[in-house]
Amino acid sequence: MENRELEAFRLELRNWLASNIPDELRPENATKLPEAERVPRLRAWQGKLAEARWVGITWPVEYGGRGASIPEQIVYTEEMSRARAPEIIGHLGIGIAGPPLIAFGTEEQKRRFARRILTAEDLWCFGFSEPSAGSDLASLRAKATLEGDHFVLEGQKVWTTLAHHADWCMALCRTDPQSSRRQGISCLLVDMRSPGITVRPLRQIGGQAEFNEVFFENVQVPRENLLGELNNGWKVATAALQNERGILYVVEMQIILTKGRDDLMRLARERGADRDPVLRQALADVYLGVETFRHTCQRILDKLLRMGMPGPEASIVKLHWTDLTQAMARIAMSIVGSEGLLYDTPAAHSENLDPAQWVQRVFLGSPATSIASGTSEIMRGIIAMQVLGLPKGS
Ligand SMILES: Cc1cc2nc3c(=O)[nH]c(=O)nc-3n(C[C@H](O)[C@H](O)[C@H](O)COP(=O)(O)OP(=O)(O)OC[C@H]3O[C@@H](n4cnc5c(N)ncnc54)[C@H](O)[C@@H]3O)c2cc1C
Repeated sequence: MENRELEAFRLELRNWLASNIPDELRPENATKLPEAERVPRLRAWQGKLAEARWVGITWPVEYGGRGASIPEQIVYTEEMSRARAPEIIGHLGIGIAGPPLIAFGTEEQKRRFARRILTAEDLWCFGFSEPSAGSDLASLRAKATLEGDHFVLEGQKVWTTLAHHADWCMALCRTDPQSSRRQGISCLLVDMRSPGITVRPLRQIGGQAEFNEVFFENVQVPRENLLGELNNGWKVATAALQNERGILYVVEMQIILTKGRDDLMRLARERGADRDPVLRQALADVYLGVETFRHTCQRILDKLLRMGMPGPEASIVKLHWTDLTQAMARIAMSIVGSEGLLYDTPAAHSENLDPAQWVQRVFLGSPATSIASGTSEIMRGIIAMQVLGLPKGS
C-alpha cells in the first residue's frame, strides 16, 4: 500500500474519531459510571464503530470488516490510542472468537454470529481454562455428550473474563472420552442464557471482578453450535489463541509500555526520586529495557510485513513486556512508598488519578501479566525450543 493511501486512511479515521467519541466514555469519565451503565453505553459505542466499519477492521469485507492490511492495522491502533478512544467492550469476540468462526464456521454460523459480534449485540467469553487445565489446556475435563440433536455439557471453567456480561461462550470440551489430550476435544458455541449455567465472579486483588468461575450442569447445546469438526476442536482453539498474541497485540504493548515509562519518569522527577542513587539505576534500566523492547517489536513487525506471519518472537515480546511492566510497577511503588497502600479499591484507569492511587492500580494489576495469555514459564519454554532449538524439557 502506498504511503499516500495509508495517510488518507489515517486521516479518515482521525476525523471520524474527532467527531464521534462520546465524552462520557473517555477513559477519565467512563470510570465514574457504574458498571451497569458503562457496559450498555460501551456496547452502543461499539455499534457506532461497526456501522462505520471502524471495528474488526482485519475481518473480511463480506463479514463487516475492511480486510485491513498490516500497515493499516498499525495505523488503526496508533490512532485509537492517540484519540484516547473508549474501550472496545467486545474485544474478545472481535479478536479471538471472530477469526476462528470465520475460518471454521458454517455459512449459517457466520451469518448468525459475525455481524452481532462486531456491533456488540453479542458479547463473547472464552471457556478454555479449568481448575486443572490452564497451561496444560489439553488435560481439560469438561465433557459434552451428543444425544440426538444436541450436546449435553457438564463441567467447570475458570478465569473466564467477561462471562458475567457475555451472551455467548466459546467453550472447549471433551467429546470423545476414549481419546486423551488434544484428540477428542470439540469447540461448542454456548448460549450463556441456557438453563444449567452458573456464573460466579472472582474478586481480584485490586477489588474488581473481571473474571469468573462458570459451571455447566446438564446444559443443552444444539448440535448446529459445534464449531469446526467433531473431536477436532484443538485446531479451533489454536487459531483462537494465535489471534490473542497477534499483531495488534505487539503494537498495543509498545504504546502501553512507552506511555507507562513516560509516566514513571514524570513521577520520579516530581518526587525527586531521580536524584536517588539506587532508583536512578533502576530507572535507567527500565529506560533501556523499553527502548530494546521497541526495537524488538519493530523487527517483528518488519518480519510480519515481509512474511505475513509472526514467528515465535511474539513470545519474546510477551515475556519482555511482562518483565518491564512488573519492574516499572515495583519502581513506582518504591517511589510513592507507604502512600501506595492507602486505598481500599484502586481506580480502574490511570487518567487524572492521585499518583499514589495510580501506582497502586498498576502494582496490583501487574502480577496478572505473567499469567494471562500464557505464563512467563510457558513463554520461556517456547523460546527455548523454537528460538534456541533446545530439546523439550523433561
Ligand atoms: C487476567 C487473566 C484473564 C484470563 N482470562 C481467561 C479467559 O477469558 N478464558 C480462559 O479460558 N482463561 C483465562 N485466563 C486463564 C489463563 O489462560 C491461565 O491462568 C493460564 O493459562 C495459566 O494457567 P493456570 O492458571 O491453570 O496455571 P498453571 O498452568 O497451573 O500454572 C501454574 C504454574 O506452573 C507453571 N507451569 C505450568 N506448566 C509449566 C511448564 N510446562 N513448564 C514450566 N512451568 C510451567 C506456570 O508457569 C505457573 O507458574 C485468564 C488469566 C488471567 C490472569
